[in-house]
Amino acid sequence: DSFDSFALDPRLAQAIGKLNYVKPTPVQTHIIPPALEGKDILARAKTGSGKTAAYLLPILQRILTAKDAAGTGGSSTGGDNATTGLILVPTRELADQVSKVIEGYTAFCGKQIRAVNIARNISDSIQQSLLLDRPDIVVSTPSRAAIHFNTETLDLTPLKYLVIDEADLILSYGHENDMQVLAGALPKGVQTFLMSATLTDDVEVLKELFCRHPFVYRP
Ligand code: AMP
Repeated sequence: DSFDSFALDPRLAQAIGKLNYVKPTPVQTHIIPPALEGKDILARAKTGSGKTAAYLLPILQRILTAKDAAGTGGSSTGGDNATTGLILVPTRELADQVSKVIEGYTAFCGKQIRAVNIARNISDSIQQSLLLDRPDIVVSTPSRAAIHFNTETLDLTPLKYLVIDEADLILSYGHENDMQVLAGALPKGVQTFLMSATLTDDVEVLKELFCRHPFVYRP
């Protein structure tokens, strides 16, 4: 097993090399190939398993590929910016962690991929301006995402990738209404990644709401 078999963009391969990853972890080996094909993913994976890279690398790869194909990557003048990735996490702390990981994997992507964390302790107006800049990826808690969706600051119509990280905790933190709102707002064809340490009834609820025939990884 090696990262070469995923045929990742050289910019991502370089970042992985710099992080000294030698080989993919089991969750990465199993879900990266179907994720690169566009399948929905339901994975049992806990912190420390390499779960963050398992969903981020395919999403970053697909965003880079789409931008290269459209010839829009890195354009600062075009009006074609759109948020295509939304990563939902139960807590502000996890949002900070995921944002740092994105920075690492996109270190060689220049301005091609812009990600923002709106779960941080920042004012509403800063959250709004970050979102209105239409970053490629938004990291958020469900409540912040739902607030900005309701005020039309977060446009979900261009969304292509949705991650629900620590899915078993998302509902236990009382995010059920927000998840319902967001589920109802998704365009057709969004690729969903449901990552969870345990596959509880709550995760089953989220699967019914967000997934279409997911590839299931349950070690
Ligand atoms: P996570 O489960 O996503 O929280 O990742 C746990 C830790 O494993 C993080 O510090 C990652 O940087 C690291 N990691 C992820 N994938 C690999 C890999 N293939 N090889 C070595 N370390 C990794």
